[in-house]
Amino acid sequence: MRDTEFYEALLGLRDPWRVTKVELNSSAGRVDVWVEDRSGVKWNCLECQKKASVYDHSEQRVWRHLNTCQYGTYIHARLPRIKCSEHGVKQVSAPWAEPGSRFTLLYENRVIDTLKECDVTGANRLTGTSWYEAWNIMEKAVARGLNRKTSLVPDYLGIDEKAFAKRHRYETLVCDLSSGTVECVLEDRGQDCLEGYYGQFSKDELAGIKAIAMDMWDPYIAATKDLVPDAETKIVFDRFHVIGQVTNALDKVRRQEHKMLMAKGQECLKGTKHLWLMNEERIPDWRKGEFDEIRKMKLKTGRAWAIKESLRHFWDYSYPKNAEKYFKRWYFWATHSRLKPMIKAAKTLKRHLPNILTYFKHHITNAVTEGLNSKIQTVKQMACGFRNREHYRKAILFHCGGLDLYARASSQTGASLDTTICGMAHAKL
Ligand SMILES: [Zn+2]
Repeated sequence: MRDTEFYEALLGLRDPWRVTKVELNSSAGRVDVWVEDRSGVKWNCLECQKKASVYDHSEQRVWRHLNTCQYGTYIHARLPRIKCSEHGVKQVSAPWAEPGSRFTLLYENRVIDTLKECDVTGANRLTGTSWYEAWNIMEKAVARGLNRKTSLVPDYLGIDEKAFAKRHRYETLVCDLSSGTVECVLEDRGQDCLEGYYGQFSKDELAGIKAIAMDMWDPYIAATKDLVPDAETKIVFDRFHVIGQVTNALDKVRRQEHKMLMAKGQECLKGTKHLWLMNEERIPDWRKGEFDEIRKMKLKTGRAWAIKESLRHFWDYSYPKNAEKYFKRWYFWATHSRLKPMIKAAKTLKRHLPNILTYFKHHITNAVTEGLNSKIQTVKQMACGFRNREHYRKAILFHCGGLDLYARASSQTGASLDTTICGMAHAKL
C-alpha cells in the first residue's frame, strides 16, 4: 500500500477526496498530508441542491489532526468553490473538519475528551493546544450542544442561587431535576433574570412544568408566580433550605449563649458548633458522650437544637394533612420557646407553609442541584478561577449541562459524486 492510500484509509477519505502527497519531517516531529478533490466533480449547492461545477479553489489551509504515532499530523488542502446559478459562489466544506476550524473533527473531539478530565491548562499540555485554542474548542462545543438541545422546558425544575467568586455576587442555576443537569446559569438572582429564563418559552410550554423546587427567595417566587401558570401549586420550597432556616436560627442562639457564658468564664459551648448543626445521627461516636453531657445542661442551645431536630420529621409524613398537623404542633413549640431567632424562623416557615406542603404532592428537592453545586466547585478548582463570568458559565454548561458536545462530520463525509455542501451554507467565502 502506498503512503497516500494508507493515509486515505486512516483519514477515512472517499471519492472525490484523495491524498496526493505525504511528507514526514522527523526532525520537526510532523507528518504533512495533502488532500485534493478529484477534478470534474459536480457538487450540490446546499441551498437549492442543484449541481454546480467547481469555480475555483480557495487558498491552501492547514488543519491539525491527531498524531501519527509520535508525530503531529497536519492536513493541507485547497477547498473547491462552486458557482451556483442562483446562490453564487459557495465554498465546499471539508468532510474532516467543521467550517472555520483549524482542527479536524477527531482532533477537536480529543481535546473535548481531555477537557472533560482536566482543566484547560492541563488540556493544553496533553494535546499541545494553546490555552486560547483549547478554550475556543470548549466554547464551540457548548454552542454546538446548546444548538442541538431541544428547547423544551423541563418538567421538574430546580432553581438555586450560587455565590460567584467573591461574596455578594450571585448566579442563579436553573436545573433539570429529572436529568440532573444545568439548564442555564443566569447572571444574577433577581426577579428579572429568572423572568428572562421563563420568557423564552410560550405560556403553553410553561404550563407544562410540573413542579419547581426553590429556596424561599422572594424574587424567584415573584418571577415564577408572574409567568408560570398555576405556580401556587407547583412551587416546592426545598426541604434542605427550610431546615437551613431553622439551623441558622439555632446557630444564632448558640452564638449568643456562648458569648454570654464566656463572659461568665464558662466554656462549655466551646468547640461544639458543628455538633449542633449536623443531623443527630451523623454525630461521630467518639463525641456522642460529650454531646449528651452538654444537652443535659438545659441550655437554650439545647432547646433550639431539639426544635431543629424535630422539624426534620415533618418530611416523614406521607399525607399533607398529617404533615400540616405536625407542623402546627411544632410551630406552637417553636413560637413558645422564648428563643427569638427560632420564633422568627418559625414565622417565616408558617408564611411559606402552603408551598412547603406541596412537597407531599411532588416529592422534589433541590438535592440534585446541591450535587451539581459540588461538581461546579470542582470545575472552579480545576480551572483555577475563571477570567470572567462568561467563561465560568460556559465551563459549567460544558461539564454539567448534559450537552451533546462533540463535533460531527457533516453528511458530506464520504460522499461521492452526489456531494452536498453541508454546514457551509452560512459560511463566509
Ligand atoms: Zn444554489
